[in-house]
Amino acid sequence: MGPKDIYAQEKMNIAIVCFGQIESIVLDYLKNNLSEIFKALLYIGKTYDLPEYAYDKKRKQYLASAILHNLSQSKDKNHKTLAIIDKDLYVPELNFVFGLADSLRGACIISTTRLKQTYYGLPEDKDLFLRRTLKEAVHEIGHLLNLNHCPDPSCVMHFSNSLLDTDRKDYNFCNNCKKIALR
Ligand SMILES: [Zn+2]
Ligand SMILES: [Zn+2]
Repeated sequence: MGPKDIYAQEKMNIAIVCFGQIESIVLDYLKNNLSEIFKALLYIGKTYDLPEYAYDKKRKQYLASAILHNLSQSKDKNHKTLAIIDKDLYVPELNFVFGLADSLRGACIISTTRLKQTYYGLPEDKDLFLRRTLKEAVHEIGHLLNLNHCPDPSCVMHFSNSLLDTDRKDYNFCNNCKKIALR
């Protein structure tokens, strides 16, 4: 066995970092489920202040790519970062994004803002909110593992244009995507 084989056996580790305060119930839920899904070592990292450098006053939204650019780059390919923010995110071409991944940096970000029923004037549904958060997190981490969007609407890598898509899909990968994600 060469050094390469040993490296391949190393477990992926994923740091969950927060921009602004995120409820511990969300962090614990993600930590437990993501470690199971990715067979990875999950830990809760730093909490940063809200990224005012990424705020667009006109849009009243935060530029997702600017936040990812500001995260320090890891040279360890087994190390990934999942950032969470409870503010609306955007990229210039779109009205909003649920999340964004930067596979070169090994970092992704998700926003919890539009995953809450209350955002749409509906009664709170904590379980539904947690499931949506997990789906978005798995999806963005999937991009970090070089997965692209999947045509299967029940696969977590299916593109979510709206919450209807998010609610329809599973938090797991289809068999094809699983082969790539967990190889
Ligand atoms: Zn995507
Ligand atoms: Zn798939």
